[in-house]
Amino acid sequence: MEHFDTIVIGAGVAGLSAARLLAASGRTVVVLEARARVGGRVWTERGDGRITDLGASWIHGVDGSPVAAAATAFGMPTVEFTVGGYQVDSRPIAYYSPAGMRLGDDEAARFAADVHAVDASLEAVIARSGTADSYRDVTEAAIAAQGWGKARAQRVREHLEHRSEEQYGAWITELAAHGLDDDSIEGDEVVFPEGYDALPRRLAEGLDVRLGHVVSRIAWSGAGVRVRSDQGELMGATAVLTVPVGVLKSGDLAIVPPLPEPVSGALSRLGMNRFEKLFLRFPTRFWDEDVYAIRQLGPEGRAWHSWYDLTALHGEPTLLTFAAGPPAREIAGWDDARVAESVMVQLRRLYGDRAVDPVDVRVTAWHADPYARGSYAYMTVGSATSDHDALATPVGGVLHLAGEATWTDDPATVPAAMLSGHRAASRIVGRDLGIDRLWR
Ligand SMILES: Cc1cc2nc3c(=O)[nH]c(=O)nc-3n(C[C@H](O)[C@H](O)[C@H](O)COP(=O)(O)OP(=O)(O)OC[C@H]3O[C@@H](n4cnc5c(N)ncnc54)[C@H](O)[C@@H]3O)c2cc1C
Repeated sequence: MEHFDTIVIGAGVAGLSAARLLAASGRTVVVLEARARVGGRVWTERGDGRITDLGASWIHGVDGSPVAAAATAFGMPTVEFTVGGYQVDSRPIAYYSPAGMRLGDDEAARFAADVHAVDASLEAVIARSGTADSYRDVTEAAIAAQGWGKARAQRVREHLEHRSEEQYGAWITELAAHGLDDDSIEGDEVVFPEGYDALPRRLAEGLDVRLGHVVSRIAWSGAGVRVRSDQGELMGATAVLTVPVGVLKSGDLAIVPPLPEPVSGALSRLGMNRFEKLFLRFPTRFWDEDVYAIRQLGPEGRAWHSWYDLTALHGEPTLLTFAAGPPAREIAGWDDARVAESVMVQLRRLYGDRAVDPVDVRVTAWHADPYARGSYAYMTVGSATSDHDALATPVGGVLHLAGEATWTDDPATVPAAMLSGHRAASRIVGRDLGIDRLWR
């Protein structure tokens, strides 16, 4: 049986980062990956001359981001797109009233000021909250403190519901009060016109990555790990396990003996979300010029409320919208044509006959992907922020969990995945390996 210093399970950004750093420090490393490609939830589709990031698209703030540093070093072109974090007014946004009329600049500014006012009091309310409180509980307290009338409060309430859905793919009552604590953006946000997948491909260069290896069992003890996949068994002194929370909770991958506390408790309190992307490509651009996004306020925006104009990426008129939280569950059994028609009903309300049918529709189904089981993890009510780090507590000194959900500061992101891989590798070697060795 082959024996390695470290067996890494999963060739997403976390696994590849850990493997690259360990290999660079002279360890023998193998990466086992279930899919036929590297990248995991960083997945760029190339077809009909189109480039579509079906998983991650954004760096949510380039300042101090190791992913931004890696992207620069790897020569990955970027386009600035600073509304990815559901900001209310960071860049021009076309807001539409509940009746479907475009808000004037003053009206839009007043709405944004209301959201900022609630945000200003929200921090203190969250700081006082307990683990039994949801994001709904704290936002309601912050809204009530403003003393507004019904309609004004309702518009802001809807914005906060959508923020919970778009940021974490969870309905506002399901997300912990602290679930959006990390929601700050440092510097511009950017997207990748030539695809995000250059990042994992570059990280994988020169590594022993074995694709099509579905791991079904990891046995650990003080002596090391034994990893079983559909291609056989391997032994390692240590392992780095980077499969998503949804896979860890599915029972598809047995861990023997089972994960101990505090890892098991932390895992039980994190949930895998529902968050799907919809790309609509049109023959002509019928929406507002010079805006980054279109937003529908009011009850008509229940399912479809935000559209992001991706035209600047490739020149083809393209809107990206999300089915997040309850709407993602609702569309799960629908075919693409039905999903597109449901979106078009709303766009026709805003743009009338100018809203022509799309020529191309792409809808993701991460919830149905057995190697993801959702898009990313969120903090369920009852969880604590520290659950992210607790999930990465080394098990028996040999098994290290990594991946986006194990990182407290900005979890659910590509930087979190990279930083968690760096932490796991550094722990195994017993010293800080220097994250810049990933791209140097
Ligand atoms: C729709 C969507 C939009 C997103 N948008 C953004 C964004 O704009 N910006 C951002 O920063 N982040 C975004 N994210 C989150 C980001 O993609 C993830 O946080 C990050 O890619 C996770 O990396 P990871 O290495 O932790 O996990 P993964 O990339 O999931 O890697 C884990 C790997 O394990 C493999 N695996 C699973 N089960 C097994 C098994 N049994 N045996 C072997 N291998 C297995 C998987 O195939 C996968 O390759 C988005 C994600 C999605 C899905």
